[in-house]
Amino acid sequence: MTGAGADTVDLDALGGWIREFARLVGEHRDELTRLDSAIGDADHGINMDRGMTAAIAALDAAAPASAAALFKKVGMTLVSKTGGASGPLYGTLFLRVGATAGEVDELDGPGFAKALRAGLDGVVARGKPEAGDKTMFDALAPAVDALDAGLDEGASLGAALRAASAAADAGRDATIPMQARKGRASYLGERSVGHQDPGATSVALLVAAAATALGGPGQR
Ligand code: ADP
Ligand code: MG
Repeated sequence: MTGAGADTVDLDALGGWIREFARLVGEHRDELTRLDSAIGDADHGINMDRGMTAAIAALDAAAPASAAALFKKVGMTLVSKTGGASGPLYGTLFLRVGATAGEVDELDGPGFAKALRAGLDGVVARGKPEAGDKTMFDALAPAVDALDAGLDEGASLGAALRAASAAADAGRDATIPMQARKGRASYLGERSVGHQDPGATSVALLVAAAATALGGPGQR
């Protein structure tokens, strides 16, 4: 669908993105933890579910008045409530998204894409991941690139987000043959090869949630 308003996402939709991500994390909690048991310490699903459950409780307690306030609340909650490496990484992602989105009550496609790229930049600043290190970066970076490319080509935000979700899924799958060079999994050296990265898996859920909640009607 196209037309006025179809490519603008309001605070309800942005909050819906967070809620859909929390729902997917809960649904995939055991899978995320199982993936982390193979190459980490078996807590990624537990960490993310704890953090996102706390983030939703914080949003329910007081409705944020701007995109900046919404994502700041989510980011701060994740930093304080999510354990492990993923807490500060996801926390930084959302804090940067909020700072870039600003004190607005809606975002257009390019505005959302700019905020998400700032989130990616925050993850890079925090964790120093590079392409091929077998981390959440390997799903998030292709997703952000696909979102930008789609919008540049004139696609609707929904179509660009669906392309971003497909890119995140492909990036997640591409972590399987990689040898980990960051985080706990890197301690395993060659034994990390052949396993899907848990953080890249949760990022694929984050981008899928964006396509569902922000992609407009008729998606999926
Ligand atoms: P921990 O490894 O501390 O137990 P989690 O299990 O919650 O934390 O999260 C692990 C995920 O964090 C990994 O699968 C990887 O995607 C991501 N990760 C770890 N270190 C880094 C890093 N330096 N940069 C980017 N992502 C990282
Ligand atoms: Mg872990």
